[in-house]
Amino acid sequence: MSGVVIIGAGQGGFQAAASLRSEGYSGPVLLIGEEAGLPYQRPPLSKTYLKSGDEGALSLRPAAFYETQNITLRTGLRADRIDRARQLVICGDTEFPYDHLILATGTRNLRPSIPGIEHALDLRTLADAARLRGALDGVQRVGVIGGGFIGLEFAAVARSLGRDVTVAEAAPRLMARAVSPAMSERFAAKHREMGTEIILNDGVTALDAEGFTLSSGRRVNADLILLAAGVRPNTELAWEAGLEVANGILVNDQLLTSDPAISALGDCACFPDHRSHHLIRLESVQAAADHARLIAKRIVHGPSAPYHSVPWFWSDQADWKLQIAGLAGPEDSAEILPDGSVIRLKGDIVTAVETVNNAKVHMMARKRMAGATPMTRESFAAPV
Ligand SMILES: Cc1cc2nc3c(=O)[nH]c(=O)nc-3n(C[C@H](O)[C@H](O)[C@H](O)COP(=O)(O)OP(=O)(O)OC[C@H]3O[C@@H](n4cnc5c(N)ncnc54)[C@H](O)[C@@H]3O)c2cc1C
Repeated sequence: MSGVVIIGAGQGGFQAAASLRSEGYSGPVLLIGEEAGLPYQRPPLSKTYLKSGDEGALSLRPAAFYETQNITLRTGLRADRIDRARQLVICGDTEFPYDHLILATGTRNLRPSIPGIEHALDLRTLADAARLRGALDGVQRVGVIGGGFIGLEFAAVARSLGRDVTVAEAAPRLMARAVSPAMSERFAAKHREMGTEIILNDGVTALDAEGFTLSSGRRVNADLILLAAGVRPNTELAWEAGLEVANGILVNDQLLTSDPAISALGDCACFPDHRSHHLIRLESVQAAADHARLIAKRIVHGPSAPYHSVPWFWSDQADWKLQIAGLAGPEDSAEILPDGSVIRLKGDIVTAVETVNNAKVHMMARKRMAGATPMTRESFAAPV
């Protein structure tokens, strides 16, 4: 028996290995990860870690977990190729056979080819975060390219450490892909109140050692520049192995790729969303972990109910915790509630609920969205 091989030892790869064991899988489990060290959580990299520098707190489990669970962990090792005909993963000159393969390769940062891009730092891995943390020491002017979650979380930390921070976003509003215009405005006001300069609608055209220039011609002087302008799914292994790939590795509602011996999960997977009926790819801990649990169950017990988890996400920016339950389309309308929460609607159906520091409403929305029937405006308002 060759067992299960998992490529990518991040959030989803780790969860798949752990869930295989908790579901009772007794065959070999091999977890291969390119990054060195134990699998760790990424969310704190743009939040608490930047202040504490505590690497130990990031590990998903201690080393002993992998021993007691009989999970073979091979980190610092890159999978170069998949031989589907012989069911092998090839890493350099070593071949690892599999009965089932799980692709959990995540994403990598986009680095647009603009002049001087080498002056910008990234924030994706622990190594990036350690570099950024070191660079924050002893600089005063911080420039952030990209007003999405990661750019804004980093901006909030840098500002709280007394740095002068400027965020430049090419789109007309912050976090535009993920939240309503009203929530974007609330967060822009919050960051401005904290003293961060927010520039919208102005893309970066060139960088140098002392800052960057925007398409309007405006100049941002910065001693440190973070590039947080989005990611690209790591689909090359799948593509080269002849699997179907779109904006991610294509999977069905069982999270199986076009090869029934290969699953894909998390940030790298493009899956059918049963609510919107679109193919979607999510970048969230929830999706990676829930995908992993479904795949492990399916491997151990056979086909399960289709993947229907309610997407949810959080972002910590200063003392605000933004939580989003559900997934809104860009055309969905928005209704602002008295406490500043926003509900997104497609007709009468609630597609997403955006809250700030309101875990109660967030949890209620998740619960009701998980029900057998879609949550309507009326059922959202019903007493808890
Ligand atoms: C700074 C930061 C903050 C975040 N904050 C939040 C948050 O607040 N809330 C939230 O829900 N999500 C957050 N996320 C997103 C969340 O971390 C990801 O959605 C989640 O980690 C996805 O899990 P994954 O297993 O799909 O990919 P990852 O955790 O990215 O793991 C993929 C792994 O695969 C490895 N790999 C790729 N190719 C190969 C190969 N060929 N061979 C071997 N290994 C390979 C990579 O090195 C990587 O370690 C954040 C992400 C970042 C970077």
